[in-house]
Amino acid sequence: DSIANQIAAGEVVQRPASAVKELMENSIDAGAKNIKLIIKEAGKTLLQIIDDGIGMSETDARMSLERHATSKIRKAEDLFSLFTMGFRGEALASIAAVAQVELKTRPADQELGTCIVVEGSDIKKQEPVACEKGTNICVKNLFFNIPARRNFLKSNPVELKHIIDEFQRLALAHPEISFSFIQGDELVYDLPATKLSQRIVGLFGKSYKEQLATCQEETENVKVSGYVGKPDFARKTRGEQFLFVNRRFIRSNYLNHAVMNAFEGLITENSFPFYVLFIEIDPKHIDVNVHPTKTEIKFDDERAVYAVVRAAVRQAIGSHNL
Ligand code: ADP
Ligand code: MG
Repeated sequence: DSIANQIAAGEVVQRPASAVKELMENSIDAGAKNIKLIIKEAGKTLLQIIDDGIGMSETDARMSLERHATSKIRKAEDLFSLFTMGFRGEALASIAAVAQVELKTRPADQELGTCIVVEGSDIKKQEPVACEKGTNICVKNLFFNIPARRNFLKSNPVELKHIIDEFQRLALAHPEISFSFIQGDELVYDLPATKLSQRIVGLFGKSYKEQLATCQEETENVKVSGYVGKPDFARKTRGEQFLFVNRRFIRSNYLNHAVMNAFEGLITENSFPFYVLFIEIDPKHIDVNVHPTKTEIKFDDERAVYAVVRAAVRQAIGSHNL
């Protein structure tokens, strides 16, 4: 069923950036304190993620690469839980179906780790290996066995941009984790563990430091925190607007509107404020679209969330705060 595998894999892995997202989320789930991303040719020939998380036993490592082996059927309300981002148990297997993967992993309490090499779902090698605590996954030649898919990838600058977007979202959501990002021979980002404001500066530059206004607003059911750029700092391009729900990046035109509405009268038309906002809400009050690649969600009470977001931003940029 390797064709079925490949098709299913294409649902999860659409481009190098989707593999980066899945693998980095796994590292975060594994409690890593340091996560390193190395790519070559915009991830088309090499994507490597090295973490110092809990690692995997030999059995778990093997199972993680086999489709549907990790059948973790969880309740719908678990899907968006605060504590874990993984829910499908098929990302690694999907990547292994469409690439050449070398996995090295070791739990802290074991002397030797496990090395597994897979090519298009075929296990080529499995042996004990001396390696660092944690997990080191090397994904080579994504879509090597699906030429149509490989040819469909965009230019390196475009694919790189998608990877940077995913990297930025995860780095913003987890300032307590140290991240580095190497593309070719270039160290693109080197981000020590820190607090959110410093993480923003690390990702976007020193000029952001003086431009951030703190957001903090809470009701019984919803909490909003983070930063917005001051009105004068608004840009002509939309790009740097980040919204997270329970630490997951989401897109929401509706909540973006709440932010824009709070800026009304303070910025010119066709300019866009910088923002990094975190919404915390009980997962039972949201409805996640379970498609793996979707970044949209539904709130039970959308209007209440809108009001809190707007109030948080309004409060942050109120004249007495600037
Ligand atoms: P999911 O994250 O949805 O469970 P994945 O295919 O992404 O599915 O990963 C399968 C399993 O492999 C995970 O549940 C986890 O147990 C293990 N795993 C994957 N990546 C790592 C990692 N970096 N460190 C430790 N365990 C990992
Ligand atoms: Mg996962």
